[in-house]
Amino acid sequence: MVQILNGKLAADHLAEEFCETIQLLKKQKKIVPTLAVILVGDSAASQLYVRRKQEKAESLGVEVQLYKLPSNTTQMVLHKLIRKLNKAFDVHGILLQLPLPPHLSRVDALYQINPLKDVDGLTPENIGLFNLNTPRFIPCTPQGCLYLIHLWRKNISGLTALVVGRSPLVGTPMAKLLLNHDATVIQAHTHTKDLGALCKLADIVVVAVGKPKLIQGDWIKPGACVIDVGINSGGTDRPVGDVDFEAVSRVAGAISPVPGGVGPLTIMFLMSNIIRAAQLSSVPS
Ligand code: NAP
Repeated sequence: MVQILNGKLAADHLAEEFCETIQLLKKQKKIVPTLAVILVGDSAASQLYVRRKQEKAESLGVEVQLYKLPSNTTQMVLHKLIRKLNKAFDVHGILLQLPLPPHLSRVDALYQINPLKDVDGLTPENIGLFNLNTPRFIPCTPQGCLYLIHLWRKNISGLTALVVGRSPLVGTPMAKLLLNHDATVIQAHTHTKDLGALCKLADIVVVAVGKPKLIQGDWIKPGACVIDVGINSGGTDRPVGDVDFEAVSRVAGAISPVPGGVGPLTIMFLMSNIIRAAQLSSVPS
């Protein structure tokens, strides 16, 4: 019987722990963890993601400052806001909601963020620290995926892991995180030949692509752990993952559903990074 990796349940469990840590920070250090969210433009999906993050943060006792900028915002105006937030003593974390409108450079904007406030872990300094296996902030979605994998197996040393996707936000840090946990990692992308054959080799498959039902049941090694990061429109209110859930469930040992798998944990690990940023703010430099 396949193990369903329930991210919603895991997130509820983590919420209790984080709530206590936040209360302690407030009581003992007089710090109210505060996140500044920058949202440029009026994408409905981005607005929804920001609303979810804001609701979760506030329910845990994290304060949120929301900065909404119009879609014709210039790179200079965006950088000016980031630099202002870098200096603000009452802001511990800065989150730039992606994607940005096409005329703006994501890389240039991210690189403006003070690495001590970079709760997405996307500045060069934090990417470097992570790659050296001395992380300050690990990107949230890969942390969520690893948490789910650990519900299946505590020790993944020596297992073969396939990561499908190589984006800077998910696929690439995911591969590195698995490597840091001593898995043997293969990374696939659009130039990969015979994805099905590679899947067959893997004890762990993490898929972050954005193609509905790309991963098929007969590609999966019996008993493998399959983590589905994808969020695709399925023509209804309910999103569809990158994995054919029904078919893969018949073969896999464990699988994360969409929705209710990686998504809730991504938000929880953002909370964890905000707590860390707030704790770092009280450490004398
Ligand atoms: P992305 O930046 O578009 O990257 C997609 C990656 O998939 C690229 O590396 C691309 O390869 C690869 N790819 C595309 N088609 C492929 C194929 N047929 N075979 C193998 N590789 C293929 O997307 P992302 O930001 O990583 O997000 C991926 C998915 O996860 C999206 O559905 C997104 O909505 C979802 N997501 C979910 C969460 C969550 O919390 N649940 C968080 C973030 C993202 P190339 O590099 O060669 O183009």
